[in-house]
Amino acid sequence: MGGGTGDPPPEGPAPAEPPAPPALPTEVDAPIQDIKDTFGDFIPQDRLDGLSADRVRVLSSQEFDQAYRAARGRGADPRGVMGFYDATTGQIRIRAGKARLGLTALHEQMHAASNGGEFNWLVFDSHDNIVPRVGQKLKEAFTDHFTNQIARNHALDNSDTLYNADGRVAVAEDIESLVGENVVRQAYFGDGAEPVEDMIRAVDERCGEGTWGRVRQLCENGDFAGARAVLRPHLGAGAAPAAP
Ligand SMILES: [Zn+2]
Repeated sequence: MGGGTGDPPPEGPAPAEPPAPPALPTEVDAPIQDIKDTFGDFIPQDRLDGLSADRVRVLSSQEFDQAYRAARGRGADPRGVMGFYDATTGQIRIRAGKARLGLTALHEQMHAASNGGEFNWLVFDSHDNIVPRVGQKLKEAFTDHFTNQIARNHALDNSDTLYNADGRVAVAEDIESLVGENVVRQAYFGDGAEPVEDMIRAVDERCGEGTWGRVRQLCENGDFAGARAVLRPHLGAGAAPAAP
């Protein structure tokens, strides 16, 4: 956005960028711009400004494990983790030596772009208890759902990730078909609890009171087919066609 003078900013070369970090795949930059172009209308400006390849570092496996434990606590288990977003520092760390570095970076950028970052969609009740209104499993489902959309535009194949393969992304797709793309994007990329509550209310209005809670719990239990079975009867007239 320009300043308050009403004059357009002068045209000219952008200030010199710091050199890109080594070992970061060059396919990262274009998808980041695509996140901004595709979802930018829903993302607050400060979060939008933070989306950058500069926040990504590729670490050796040993360094990655140390960084993961430092960010998530000494008891955190880094085995099998390929990347993570640290909301407290705004940094993304990727494990070296794995294929698909670009897709992992893209998935983590999506977390960085999302509502509340790492802690998104946790709501504090009046006793300061954390209430998982969406839950970890659905959070990742939506993250890979949006990652799929950007990956597709760049001929990157995200289809064999764990979250696509285990069926949770299909739950996110059903929810989006039920309540509409804008409601889901507002919840995921918007700010605070309100757009999340709007999405939850939209599901319950469409499918019956308590539906969201059931679907969330089934997903937390890993029963993604069960969650879809709850939603799919409502994906009839008026809803966008479900993904095959
Ligand atoms: Zn994730």
